[in-house]
Amino acid sequence: MKKYLRIILEVLLGLLFVVASVLAYVNWSGKRHAVVEVSSVSQEMEELDKDLKDAEEEVKHLKGEMDALQPRVFQLDAVKAALSGGQVLQDMETLYKGGKIEMTAERQAGIGALRMLAIGADDPNTVAAFNKALEMAQWKNRLDTVCAAQNALAAAGQKIEVLSECRNISTAKPKEAAKHDFHWGYEGKEGPEHWGSHFPVCGNGKKQSPLNIVAPFEKSKAKLTVNYKMGPLKMLNNGHTIQVNIPPGSTMSVNGTAYDLLQFHFHRPSEEQINGDYSAMVAHFVHKSKEGQLAVIGVLLQYGKENPAIKTLWANLPPKENEEYAPDKIAFDPASLLPKDLGFYHYEGSLTTPPCTEGVDFYILKTPSEVSKDQVGQFPYKMNARPVQPLNGRKISES
Ligand SMILES: [Zn+2]
Repeated sequence: MKKYLRIILEVLLGLLFVVASVLAYVNWSGKRHAVVEVSSVSQEMEELDKDLKDAEEEVKHLKGEMDALQPRVFQLDAVKAALSGGQVLQDMETLYKGGKIEMTAERQAGIGALRMLAIGADDPNTVAAFNKALEMAQWKNRLDTVCAAQNALAAAGQKIEVLSECRNISTAKPKEAAKHDFHWGYEGKEGPEHWGSHFPVCGNGKKQSPLNIVAPFEKSKAKLTVNYKMGPLKMLNNGHTIQVNIPPGSTMSVNGTAYDLLQFHFHRPSEEQINGDYSAMVAHFVHKSKEGQLAVIGVLLQYGKENPAIKTLWANLPPKENEEYAPDKIAFDPASLLPKDLGFYHYEGSLTTPPCTEGVDFYILKTPSEVSKDQVGQFPYKMNARPVQPLNGRKISES
């Protein structure tokens, strides 16, 4: 029944919206009175009850979020009673099938959660319900649903990758569930050689980044232009790097396609090699086109003079991890990190961090910028570079 403890926690924390919708439904349908009267509680429900108490114990230890959660925890008893007969599930399925209410990813995950509570996590239809929710959920704007469904499937013993982004959504996790979680990093058990067993593309992708850039090169006719704008400085320490988030308006263009600059961040040493040599650091400028194509401009940073742009950035490092920091009245121009000459090497690659998604165009500038030894030493991450990846027949072009 440990499985249920985990599931209840998911309901409490990851699937709060489901509880809310069930409560709304129970109230709406006027069935609250009837369902609470369900008197014959099955053996399974008794065990569930015990696990729920354990779960509530654990939840009580949570700080911060608890104030918001507490009223819901108390209301859960009524919900649990309503669920035990499976009637709510049936009614909700009928309600959605009627087509009067649009089926969203959240509602689909809600159906999964109801199935889990009423029927069990091992039921193939429960698994199917969560898989459907995953399919429906659009990555990023539906991250909560993706995480809830992924965590629920993992808890049901399904072989499913739980994104590291989902870590923070459900903060209370029983220890036995921790094996589903993977905190990627650059060393030891978290290191790049282990990424592939949790994020398959990192291990079996054929167009991975970074690369060792060596001749022969094809000739690229593409012209790269950038139009970055001065804007308010917004910084983020995401636990893997220092990232500067860019307000809308900074763009670049290559081959007639326009891209928005989203953010830039740093790696130490450079991830890319030129003829087998690393640079002290690299700045990756991450862009996205209207069609969703990603393109990265890489600016290698070689040991040399103090870099005034980096001086501004390092003077404003975020005080906390995973919280965007916008120091007062500091303006920053991303172009101040670029060399004058935008000659480049180009290849098709991937994100250099999990999940290592492919289809990313890399433009590594031939001309490096400079950074002083002291400045490299002040960067909070000693080593945050993925090793170079096999070329696998890809062509590197140069401008
Ligand atoms: Zn990067």
